[in-house]
Amino acid sequence: MTTIAFIGLGNMGNPMAANLVKAGHTVQGFDLVAENLAVAREHGVAAVESAAAAAKGADVVITMLPAGKHVLSVYEDIAPKAAKGALFIDSSTIDVESARKAHAIAASHGLLSVDAPVSGGTGGAAAGTLTFMAGGSNEAFAKAEPILKPMAGKIVHCGDGGAGQAAKICNNMILGISMIGVSEAFVLAEKLGLSHQALFDVASTSSGQCWSLTTYCPVPGPVPTSPANRDYQPGFAAALMLKDLKLSQEAAQAAGAVTPLGAEATQLYGLFSAQGNGGADFSGIIRFLRGDVA
Ligand code: NAD
Repeated sequence: MTTIAFIGLGNMGNPMAANLVKAGHTVQGFDLVAENLAVAREHGVAAVESAAAAAKGADVVITMLPAGKHVLSVYEDIAPKAAKGALFIDSSTIDVESARKAHAIAASHGLLSVDAPVSGGTGGAAAGTLTFMAGGSNEAFAKAEPILKPMAGKIVHCGDGGAGQAAKICNNMILGISMIGVSEAFVLAEKLGLSHQALFDVASTSSGQCWSLTTYCPVPGPVPTSPANRDYQPGFAAALMLKDLKLSQEAAQAAGAVTPLGAEATQLYGLFSAQGNGGADFSGIIRFLRGDVA
């Protein structure tokens, strides 16, 4: 089996690393936070003292870090020390430009690399059902695919380096916008005296149908598993939605794309988060639109 370095053992990284251990791989893990390393050890990860120690002798290096600057500093640190022929996989959600820089650092040391951000959240990470959106050469993707499998429900090769991050932020821009759209419709329905269930029954089988309505309904009742039924405990926190929307707007500016609804969604999630709701599920934006939260 393969020796895998796993760097960044937070809410996502720890359960992902645990699934790699379950699949029979040797996993050498590192995180800056001692408690996260202790959890990893319980999952059978060999906890080590630095990113470089994790990468030592590893066939594959996986990073699951907060932002582009963390990924680039780890790549600059360990790419020169990595084993010959090692494959680098970055599953963090980061800006497309940093993702391309990370590929360039790997390539400058003769290493194959893939950007492979995920959707599916901590639940998907624990269940091993994440969707991976991969960017990189065919050769790099072919090597990455069997490594990702124990953590994945679906793996899509989106194109060359950076294409995985591009797919991730485009998808999440749709999600942010659609959640606001669905929430506005429920708020309007309330003012018109139309019940939540009636709107759901019609829209879920009509042209208003979308994931934000049918899987993640922002009002309690119609979809019992949605966070609205547990006072908007995440799920997917509004702060993370804001992060992804900001990445989409940076990319849109750099690429000259016109995304006015993406810009508006970024503003609304910014206001919602600034008012102390960053830790709430992103579907809680309905309370903000209704005027229920300050
Ligand atoms: P997290 O903050 O729980 O974990 C990140 C970890 O990286 C932390 O434990 C931190 O200590 C560690 N870290 C930071 N710098 C480091 C370094 N130099 N060396 C080693 N460790 C370092 O975040 P998370 O929720 O696990 O998310 C990780 C990534 O996955 C983010 O990019 C996030 O946007 C993305 N993501 C998260 C979710 C989710 O639902 N949480 C879903 C999809 C994607």
